[in-house]
Amino acid sequence: MPAFDPTTVLELLGLPTEDSLAACPTRSKVDAESVFRVLLSRELGAATSRRVEAALSEAGWFEPGVLAASDLAELRQFLADERIRLGDVALAKLRRLAVWVDALRVEDGSTSIGAGVDDESLRESLRAVKGLGPATVDAILLRGLGRAAFPVERAGYRILARHGWVDAAAGYDEARAVVEDAVDGDVAVLSALEAAFERVGREFCRPRAPRCERCKLRTLLPPNGPVHDELD
Ligand code: SF4
Repeated sequence: MPAFDPTTVLELLGLPTEDSLAACPTRSKVDAESVFRVLLSRELGAATSRRVEAALSEAGWFEPGVLAASDLAELRQFLADERIRLGDVALAKLRRLAVWVDALRVEDGSTSIGAGVDDESLRESLRAVKGLGPATVDAILLRGLGRAAFPVERAGYRILARHGWVDAAAGYDEARAVVEDAVDGDVAVLSALEAAFERVGREFCRPRAPRCERCKLRTLLPPNGPVHDELD
């Protein structure tokens, strides 16, 4: 199996890691808002999540203790009054995440969320929050908490599998480890790769038919082309 080389991938795509690092908090300066922001943007998209954040912040609700103790019906009505529709599932996830942050903040006693907790313990406790899938958990770890985690979305999985960097039967954690092991804990590189895979997956590495002839990663394909054509 060929080795995954993140430096070559980023060079081919022309993505600087500095810009990506700016998108992640540093470990010593993590606030609850940055954690909530990751979940909201995944659930609602960037524009709506910004509106939700602005409305909740103005009303004093974008704070872990307040959000954790909030009444869902009241929260839903407040957002409806602001002409923002946020489904009950997303709302419940946001509140459960607030409970998690609030408990961690009290336990940790630090102003930076999770500062005294190692990456694996954080991943394990986040995975226990109902409704958060493994990729959401790793996105929160990376972009919300500034940890060296790689969220393997479907697009990233397709890219890794088609190049033979992971086996098509690989599980989530196996695929994640291929990327994380290759970058040696570099949060900026992980963040740049996340952005790169999302873009390449959307523009070229589609589920049915990859558009390799126009993709900058084509020089890294195996001699006989992509290992798989159709992949979810
Ligand atoms: S070269 Fe082909 S298989 Fe590789 S990422 Fe681009 S579209 Fe996907």
